[in-house]
Amino acid sequence: MVQKYGGTSLQDTDRIKNTARRIKGYRQKGHEMIVVVSAMGKTTNNLISLAREISDSPPKRELDVLLATGEQISIALLSIALNEIGVDTISLTGAQCGIRTSNLHSNARIEDIDTARLKAEFKAGKVVIVAGFQGINEKGDITTLGRGGSDTTAVALAAAMKAPKCEIYTDVDGVYATDPRVVPQALKLDRISYDEMLEMARLGAQVLHPRSVELAKNHQVPLEVRSSLNFNPGTQIIGEINMEDIRISGITSEKNIARISIARVPDKPGIAYRLFKRLSENEISIDMILQNLNHENANDISFTTPTEALGEALPIVEGFAADIEAQEVIVKENVCKISLVGTGILGHGEVAATFFETLSNLGINIEMISTSETKISCLIDGKDSDTATRTLHRIFFEK
Ligand code: ADP
Ligand code: ASP
Ligand code: MG
Repeated sequence: MVQKYGGTSLQDTDRIKNTARRIKGYRQKGHEMIVVVSAMGKTTNNLISLAREISDSPPKRELDVLLATGEQISIALLSIALNEIGVDTISLTGAQCGIRTSNLHSNARIEDIDTARLKAEFKAGKVVIVAGFQGINEKGDITTLGRGGSDTTAVALAAAMKAPKCEIYTDVDGVYATDPRVVPQALKLDRISYDEMLEMARLGAQVLHPRSVELAKNHQVPLEVRSSLNFNPGTQIIGEINMEDIRISGITSEKNIARISIARVPDKPGIAYRLFKRLSENEISIDMILQNLNHENANDISFTTPTEALGEALPIVEGFAADIEAQEVIVKENVCKISLVGTGILGHGEVAATFFETLSNLGINIEMISTSETKISCLIDGKDSDTATRTLHRIFFEK
């Protein structure tokens, strides 16, 4: 059995002791167990702030060395807590557990897991406590998997060990139609398919790391999201969707986005290519893109990027705009992408119409739109995010 406990389940030593008692309960039922843990409470954020007090752009390798310590504290303390109540355990860092990743610091992908050590510890009768969110690359350096990446460690271990199930314990009772911290009466989902959950996670439903859902789908690992604070049934993430059916799964909002616009770009072939090539060469992630013909022989091009990438992106865009003699570069920070996720949405025009109508009734301006078979997304002002989420939940789920 693979279980993962998030930061809130390990916020302080009382929570750690409580988590240890829960694990002991499962252990007493005879399960062989791998327990993956995140850093305590807000540790990861605090570590990032410490680095930023010293440097605006800390080397990513060193940042990984720093952030990986958060999970290392958790494995040791949880292991101590379990030993204290008579459970035989061993704590392992990502590297000790054989988790090999790609080289990309701060956003590495798990490439394979050497399970020899894990199997040996099982044989010795131990509950194995593994540091989530980290691994080791081919150079032997510590890497991290991106924010929220402990979920991915758990699913990858479940897949490698062919565990029948992977349970993700967090601070809410499961997956809801939208963030229950924004909409307290949000509808809890009993089950959701891998594809629907993947779309929700990619579009900002923080409850699961997108890559964990992708891995669970590829290896057919049944996932359950549950609370570590009670014994309520959670949400099952399993199975296929039927693309013929229309089914709205949820509403997500992705914050901390910036919009960059270049005004009056010459209307010539190759401009978009050169801009986005330059950005991709610098590993700047781009999301929504919009080009419109506003003026004679000139276009405006806008795109979005995470706020944290703005510092790197802006000089590149400004340099490019000067090269092509565009008029100006305009930046808007604090925009958000609000999305309605579901299947068969594009085939049902009334869903899109209702989505736009709801925003319009709230007087919210839509700055960009993008659609696919499984979602409609609008870029809106960040300050309107919560109001829009609450109202959309009411319209689509509280009928
Ligand atoms: P953990 O530390 O356990 O990994 P996270 O903060 O990463 O916890 O994820 C849990 C949080 O995800 C919840 O507290 C909730 O506010 C947020 N969340 C956002 N969207 C959803 C959703 N659709 N369903 C459930 N939780 C959501
Ligand atoms: N501690 C890491 C983070 O905050 C990983 C995780 O919690 O999953 O992002
Ligand atoms: Mg998380």
